Parts: sequence; C-alpha cells; structure tokens
Amino acid sequence: MTNSHLQIDGARVLADLNALRAIGAYQTGVHRPTFSEPHMRSLEWLAQRLPEAALAAEIDGIGNVLGTSAKSGPKLLAGSHLESQNFAGWLDGPLGVVYALEAARIINPDRSTKGAVEVAAWCDEEGHFGHFLGSRSYVGDVTEADIDAAHDRSSGRTMRQALRDVGLAGRARATAERGRHIGYLEAHIEQGLTLESARLRIGIVTSIVGIWQYRITFTGEQNHAGTTRMKDRRDAGLALARLCVAIDDRFPASCGARTVWTTGRITLDPGAPSIIPGRAEMLFQIRDDNPEIIERLEKLLRDLAAEASAMGRCSAEVTRLRTGAPALMNARFQQAIEAASTSFASGKSVRMPSGAGHDAQVLATIMPAGMLFVPSIGGISHHWNENTDDADIVTGAQVFVETCRLLLAQ
Ligand SMILES: [Zn+2]
Repeated sequence: MTNSHLQIDGARVLADLNALRAIGAYQTGVHRPTFSEPHMRSLEWLAQRLPEAALAAEIDGIGNVLGTSAKSGPKLLAGSHLESQNFAGWLDGPLGVVYALEAARIINPDRSTKGAVEVAAWCDEEGHFGHFLGSRSYVGDVTEADIDAAHDRSSGRTMRQALRDVGLAGRARATAERGRHIGYLEAHIEQGLTLESARLRIGIVTSIVGIWQYRITFTGEQNHAGTTRMKDRRDAGLALARLCVAIDDRFPASCGARTVWTTGRITLDPGAPSIIPGRAEMLFQIRDDNPEIIERLEKLLRDLAAEASAMGRCSAEVTRLRTGAPALMNARFQQAIEAASTSFASGKSVRMPSGAGHDAQVLATIMPAGMLFVPSIGGISHHWNENTDDADIVTGAQVFVETCRLLLAQ
C-alpha cells in the first residue's frame, strides 16, 4: 500500500452515513424529498461538518451545499446529493457526499498532499422539482424562468414557494469558476447487480447513458363496446398493445449489449370498460450510451408504430420528448480509479456504463468527470431496503480517497 498516512477512518464514514440516515428516517431508509424539513436538516448537517475539512461552507440560492478551500494548488470537486426519492434508501446520494467529505478531511489538512478536495451536495438530483436543477444551476444551465416554472411533482408546491419556505429565496446561486477545478469525482451505489453478481468491489464508470423519451399516440374511433362489430372497429388501445409486443420482438436484433427500453405509462381514452378507446398514448424510453444505436432503434420504433397503426386502421404519431446525450467519463479519471482499486480493492474492479443518471453527467459538460460505484445488495435501490455491505462501503471510501490523491498528484 502506498501513502499509508492517507488511510481513511472507516468507522467515521459509517457513523456519518448513519447520522444522515437518522435525518428523515423511514423504515430502514429515509424519506427526505427536496426542501422538506429533514432535507434542509441534512444540508445543515453537511455545512457544519465542512470546516472539519478546512472548507468554508455555503448553502446557495438553489439549495446546493458547497465547501470551498483556501489551500493552494489544484482543486478537485467531489460530491453527490442529500435528498432522496420518496420513502427510499439511505445511501443513494449520501454515500458520495460522505466519501467526498472524508477525502477532504484527510487530504486538505495534509501538507504533503498537493491541492484540495472541494465538496458539493447538489440539490434535487432526484428530480422532485426538475432535472438536476442544482448541478445544472452550477454549470449555468438554469434560468430564473426555469425556477419560476418548477414545482414539486408530488405536492404541486412551486419552487419559488419552497425556496421562500426554507429561507433560501433571494440568495445568490453559486456557479462554477471556469478553470478552478481539475475535474469532478462522484461515488454512488451501483443500483444494479453487475458488481454483486461478479463478486467485484468497484465499478469504474465509463459513460452515463443518454435517455431518449417518446410519446406515441394512436388515434382510432371511440365507439360502443357492445354494438360495434369486431371488423368495424378502429381500436387505438389494441394498436398500442400491438406496438408494445412488436417492440419486444424486434428491438433485440437491433439493440446494443446494454440497451434498455421501457413503456412507463399507458393511457387509454376515455378509459371505460364499455367504450372502445378512440385514443391511446404511451410514454416510452430508450437508454444507451451510443447515439448510433438509438438512431437505429428510433427508426425501427417509427416503422413498427406505422405497422401497428396500419393493422388497427388507426393513425400513429411518434414524438420525441427528450434527447439525452450520453456523458463520457474522462479516461484519466478511469485510470486513477483503476489504479486505486488495484491498491485498495485487490483489483476487483470492472469498467461499466451507468444506466442511471447522475450529477456527474452535468458536471462533465464543463470539466473532466469520473464516477465509481460500490455494490448494491440485491441490486435494490429507490426502495428503503437499499443497502451495501459495511465492508464494501469502507473499501469504496478508501478507493475514493486514493483516487482523489492520484488525480491531485498528476
Ligand atoms: Zn443518486
């Protein structure tokens, strides 16, 4: 092992994570939605810890917590988020924040290590009010009009009202100082089974997949379910169901190794037992890190929708709602995580794409970025049963701190 004086304090990391778990505790997880009372308490908790790492703490006008260092030399930005999905797990977000805090606590006061780790907790990564509002605000991608329009998807409370309620209204939003950071590093639970099933300890993220979202609408003819004979029907619901089956049959021959697709919502109009649906709508999502594959699948989707509508004598309209550019993780960051895994995780690491979105994809638009994963027990996440073995949490923290050291030394 190199630089043994940069050993982490595993008990401290676990104690910090458990302290956060107690804020908004729900079953074995947490309920800490954005701008709720427990969420604000978790931000204060972090702000109070940051001076331990020789960082000046600030909670900005969109709820980002930022710890800034006065130490000379290169600066590495590190963090994740502290709010949770509703009634969800204890590690999704806090793991990356506590790793960043631990790295800062060890590296920043250490005179023999050049530079500093600066800590960030990005607000609303979980999308209660929008998409990555905190990190997007930091990179300059959120306007005042965006904030005017944002509201809580569960309660309807506007973001303006929420900011007033928690005392952040009128406070300035922090934005990135270009050139200040050598890059951004984030740790996260994997939220899948890749590491656990291969008995690996560290995932080295190569890319964060893009998400493409579509609305597909079939228009047929609404009519009586008893008197309209089968041959005379133009059933929009049936056309939609045919498309779902056709996608499942035909996508596998054209997709990539890790492509996933999901029909997340189906609406039949008017949606009554005795009425043939005149209109049917589905929300459909494709995720991959290769835009060429997505392009191929989108063309196939449009062809299949046309086939399904021809069979049901309905018209089909495919609208792309969201185009997600995949984010590539920086090669030097991947190498540093791999080297740290060799030293502190017996080399039990694998390079893999992230199927979930993370703040690192936003930071990657303005600086080099990297991510590492630790195993999720049973692959479970966005549920209060989400968990990671204590030994894996500690190993991940050590690999994270070593990665920070290697990056700052470059
Ligand atoms: Zn997360």
